[in-house]
Amino acid sequence: MNQEKTALFTIFGGTGDLAKRKLYPSLYRLYKKGFLKEHFAVIGTARREWTNDYYREIVMETIKDLADSTEEATKFASHFYYQAHNVTDTEHYSELKELSTKLDEKYQLENNRIYYLAMSPNFFGTITEHLKAEELITNDGFNRLIIEKPFGHDYESAAILNDQIRASFHENQIYRIDHYLGKEMIQNISAVRFANAIFESMWNNRYIDNIQITLSESIGVEERGGYYETSGALRDMVQNHILQVVSLLAMEPPIELKDEEIREEKIKALRSVRIFKPEEVRHYFVRGQYGASTVHDEKSLGYREEQNVDPASQTETFVAGKVMIDNFRWAGVPFYIRTGKKLREKGTQINIQFKGMPLNLFSEDHTTPQEPNVLTIYIQPTEGFSLQLNSKKIGQGLETELLNLKHKNSAETSANSPEAYEKLILDCLNGDSTNFTHWDEVAQSWKFVDVIRQAWNKETPEFPNYPSGSMGPVCSDQLLEKDGFKWFWNPTGE
Ligand code: NAP
Repeated sequence: MNQEKTALFTIFGGTGDLAKRKLYPSLYRLYKKGFLKEHFAVIGTARREWTNDYYREIVMETIKDLADSTEEATKFASHFYYQAHNVTDTEHYSELKELSTKLDEKYQLENNRIYYLAMSPNFFGTITEHLKAEELITNDGFNRLIIEKPFGHDYESAAILNDQIRASFHENQIYRIDHYLGKEMIQNISAVRFANAIFESMWNNRYIDNIQITLSESIGVEERGGYYETSGALRDMVQNHILQVVSLLAMEPPIELKDEEIREEKIKALRSVRIFKPEEVRHYFVRGQYGASTVHDEKSLGYREEQNVDPASQTETFVAGKVMIDNFRWAGVPFYIRTGKKLREKGTQINIQFKGMPLNLFSEDHTTPQEPNVLTIYIQPTEGFSLQLNSKKIGQGLETELLNLKHKNSAETSANSPEAYEKLILDCLNGDSTNFTHWDEVAQSWKFVDVIRQAWNKETPEFPNYPSGSMGPVCSDQLLEKDGFKWFWNPTGE
């Protein structure tokens, strides 16, 4: 079967970090697998004055660990062209148009265009406006726009940005990247739910006690302090990745596993997420910021000591919260979410805690609760599942002990599974927007997050409030304790 795709990629920000670390290697993987062959070309653009040759050298450098031979890498890189371009300069777009037409003819690209905006969102509106005005959008062939996060910094700014982009591209031409949606195990949530009757039949408030989602990072902000100061964990992780995971866990079964059907269900789930009143925020959401600590004689910097960070910064590097979904399926079930930097262990996992037995026949008074059944979905770095069960302890008596059924993808399977960006670029080439976020999802997520942000802005937090290398501030544990729960994932760091 010929799986070759045909398109011209124009990468704005072609000299940047994202392009070098993610985009070029992903395009190369698609090339190696035969999705890209003869009929593709890439224009990299940015202000730097690079030549085609220099650009190709850079591209080859980014794929050196993936390529089987220099010959293969050179052949791949020969499809790359560089055009120095300041996105605010109208004249540059005519040059870009000329080069695009030339490459279209040379590689027979059928006027298929993918514009990848791998640069600051401040420029998205300017670029899309010029693409339309300077007639870079073709009449035949497809025109698709891939854009990176962050999509605005609140609902209002996101709506303005959206209006700007929509003046040039239709919603079905816009692919808003949330790289979490490209992850293997996130896509597996649908399989767990809709391919296993034992889970789907129990996937509701009658059988589930609570759901916990943790996105934990062990590193700090590193050199991204400047950006992080304007963002914080709530905007950086909750508004997009975490709420996307919530919507996938909470949505109703779609009629089909197709983009419009799934999206419709995700949007409905997000619309059911309770938007708090400002005075309620403190009961549902807590925040934190890491302080310095010394682990194994090594000093770890506090957030306020990091590069480009205000020494009195009030930016949160940790968020924990309780999300409530007010619909028939989920009424009363808390979705606890947690994300932070400089935590004890790096990892993303979802823990679904089922309700206990009405009586514990294995305890003398029948009232001491048994350990709950917990289904865990490991997203990264480990990929897999586990199911915590109670089993009889071998020997005399009727004591129970915990048993963990575990499936972890082997290191080899994980290493060979396509990288998120590779999957998402291929989805875009196929015109499949299932794993991208629709404007309605973005809008709804901002409405939820904005109330929290505004309430927090009115108070001065006592930061720093957790040491680097811990699992966050005490208030995060208290959030669950007051409901009679605890964080299921509590790594000891060993
Ligand atoms: P970056 O390394 O700072 O790259 C920015 C790019 O924009 C550079 O190629 C720069 O090149 C170009 N540029 C800046 N001003 C320009 C102008 N006026 N005209 C033309 N080109 C201009 O940023 P990045 O880390 O790659 O991030 C790009 C986008 O991806 C951002 O939206 C970011 O939030 C998002 N993102 C990045 C990552 C990541 O891992 N890096 C992850 C998730 C999302 P010149 O200086 O040569 O002009």
